[in-house]
Amino acid sequence: MIGVLGAGQLGRMLALAGYPLGQRFRFFDTVEDAVAGQLAELRVGAYDDLEALSHFAEGLELVTYEFENVPVAAARFLAERVPVFPPPQALEAAQDRLVEKTFFQGLGIPTPPFYPVSTRADLLQGVERIGFPCVLKTRTLGYDGKGQEVLRGPQDLERAWTSLGGQPLILEGFVEFERELSVLAVRGRSGELAFYPLVENHHHGGILRKSLAPAPGLSPQLQAQAEDYARQVLERLEYVGVLAIELFEAEGRLMANEMAPRVHNSGHWSLEGAETSQFENHLRAVLGLPLGSTQVRGHAAMLNLIGFQPDFARILEVREAHLHWYGKEVRPGRKVGHVNLRADTWEELGARLRALEDAIA
Ligand code: AMP
Repeated sequence: MIGVLGAGQLGRMLALAGYPLGQRFRFFDTVEDAVAGQLAELRVGAYDDLEALSHFAEGLELVTYEFENVPVAAARFLAERVPVFPPPQALEAAQDRLVEKTFFQGLGIPTPPFYPVSTRADLLQGVERIGFPCVLKTRTLGYDGKGQEVLRGPQDLERAWTSLGGQPLILEGFVEFERELSVLAVRGRSGELAFYPLVENHHHGGILRKSLAPAPGLSPQLQAQAEDYARQVLERLEYVGVLAIELFEAEGRLMANEMAPRVHNSGHWSLEGAETSQFENHLRAVLGLPLGSTQVRGHAAMLNLIGFQPDFARILEVREAHLHWYGKEVRPGRKVGHVNLRADTWEELGARLRALEDAIA
């Protein structure tokens, strides 16, 4: 049986990919209505409750996670009892934006310029070094654009400091990127590697809305660059499983923004759009099985469903549209499902995307 820390939609999709492989799952989450609990055993507890973690680990073959803010201490505690993949050091490297960017830098992976900020004086010094525009972010627990303030000029200093000051922060240069991309990579227990093609991501209000795979106009050089960066991260961390790196493309170059040591929203297209989905490949990796082909089946897209329940029938009328509804209560701003699309050509995919966008408008 595989233990999964976190029982949200990512865990649920891991279980759905694992059943054909004959796997069974036990989830751990802090909330009772976590949606993977609709499919498999769910243990509810706090990540610092060692007794609960120890009961959770009993009889498990291995533990993985779908949530990157699992406390490192909890992952290390479990790793003394049962193999944990990806290794806890991957959590450590990804949870703090300053540690993460320093880690990228150490591997020679370009990042936006950054400066650690804990006092108002640090902020002023950081702004002097980096210049405007820049973006002030919390070092930990930020997601979907939360815990961030863009500073366009000196008039924004006070607002940004009032909103975020008093916790560990990082100031970053604001990148005038052409587009946002992500690379999903997998490393197996034997060190085998596989890479999905770079994906183009469209965000709105800090939340991912749409992914296109492969990224339109993707050159072999850009793909090779992304694979090289991902390979270095995977190997340095002795990583096992799927890893996502979010990137900016600016003037033909890639810059790393952040990484997620888990399956990722920008890889959901792979459920029907790739020969092997990110979920199946993550499980193959952690189980020590051969990785599956990451080849795209033509062209693929994913649209997130955020904060509303669409008319399922209208979505399913669109050719090659596949609905993934997570079984969550609908709340504003909450990711409650996604729709995957596939087509043989870009033109056909574009037409289907327009039909889908109409269906959920
Ligand atoms: P993050 O939480 O770091 O993924 O940031 C959320 C979104 O904010 C990103 O997807 C970008 O659209 C934007 N963003 C974050 N950092 C920067 C930056 N240094 N320069 C420009 N845009 C950024």
